[in-house]
Amino acid sequence: MKLGLPKESHTGESRVALIPANVARLLKKNVQVLVESNAGNNAGFTDTDYVTAGATIVSREQVLSDADVITVVNAKDEQLAELKAVIKPNQILIGMMDPLAHPENAQAIADAGATAIALELVPRITRAQSMDILSSMATIAGYKAVLLAAHKAPRLFPMMMTAAGTLKPSRAFIMGVGVAGLQACATAKRLGAVVEAYDIRPAAREQIISVGAKPVELDLETENTETKGGYAAEQSDDFLKRQQQAMTNVLAQQDIVITTAAIPGRKAPVLITKAMLDGMKKGTIIVDLAAETGGNCELTEVDKEVVYNGVTILGPSNIPGTAANHASQMYGTNIENLLKLLVDKEGVVNLDFEDEIVKDTVVAHQGEVASARLRDLLG
Ligand code: NAD
Repeated sequence: MKLGLPKESHTGESRVALIPANVARLLKKNVQVLVESNAGNNAGFTDTDYVTAGATIVSREQVLSDADVITVVNAKDEQLAELKAVIKPNQILIGMMDPLAHPENAQAIADAGATAIALELVPRITRAQSMDILSSMATIAGYKAVLLAAHKAPRLFPMMMTAAGTLKPSRAFIMGVGVAGLQACATAKRLGAVVEAYDIRPAAREQIISVGAKPVELDLETENTETKGGYAAEQSDDFLKRQQQAMTNVLAQQDIVITTAAIPGRKAPVLITKAMLDGMKKGTIIVDLAAETGGNCELTEVDKEVVYNGVTILGPSNIPGTAANHASQMYGTNIENLLKLLVDKEGVVNLDFEDEIVKDTVVAHQGEVASARLRDLLG
């Protein structure tokens, strides 16, 4: 099997879908790897590194025409528009394609007659943990969100007893404690802040405690907060209003707020309204990791710094791209592990639709949208 690695053409993307270490290991599985020249440059991997690992450097046209499987970071927006025009029915595209919010991306590859694997749909089961790109990227986002906040904040994180007096530690509040939120709790704690956290899923409580943070209990009746897959269930407007009221006092005491709340395929829930910002301390920094899906704060703007009533709100997009080397290492290893499941001893791709991982992630196959979940969304 020939595996193709194009350079990302998505605006501002610095990650690459496979790193040289992945190439070297895949070679042993009878996989030949074609890499577009300079594909890994922005993530710190040179063409020479890929060649040393056993890859062949070719043009973009060759990668896209000769590969049996094309691996990318972004199988959406402008890069998808390019790929869908050239992809052939016998080729397989693997990447992130935002399938729940944009099921039309799967439709585009189905229309081209090719196969598409959407990495966001890897099931959250133990066997698939090593292929879980959402967890990999969320780990980086949670860590870096805290560093962004620390960099912007007018106060330091730890308590310091100095000859010039004692500095009180910053108080950090993490809203939404999935993978990113948990990493944010751990990072803020390591930097010395007093950390509190809240999630609607009761299971998060134990995890919050396990990283040394304090769970915030809101006196709210919550039913059906978690889906079968372990994700948060969408809550009613009435619940969100009651949540906002209960959260106002907690927010008023914070120096740092990191928000990560998300519902797969839906607009992010608004946890912080403009009115709540009025009650917050001047100098507080909010980093909203849900900016790209609408924002957890009413005033968040993607990739802008909004200052309101002395509170600064950051809504960064693609945080994993700011740590492109490690992000590519994690992403590439997730893809390598998925390929090891899909490729047989002879190096031939074998899609076993009886396997839950294959069934959930293959979204386009033989001219059809292969995922029932996406067909429902497409109507
Ligand atoms: P996510 O990015 O979908 O959402 C982030 C967090 O926001 C979630 O914890 C969610 O409960 C929370 N949230 C949603 N609405 C909220 C609201 N109104 N108020 C407060 N919080 C709200 O989450 P994720 O990081 O993808 O993790 C989702 C789940 O999957 C978690 O239970 C996680 O432990 C689990 N998980 C399992 C595996 C595995 O078993 N292989 C791997 C990774 C994650």
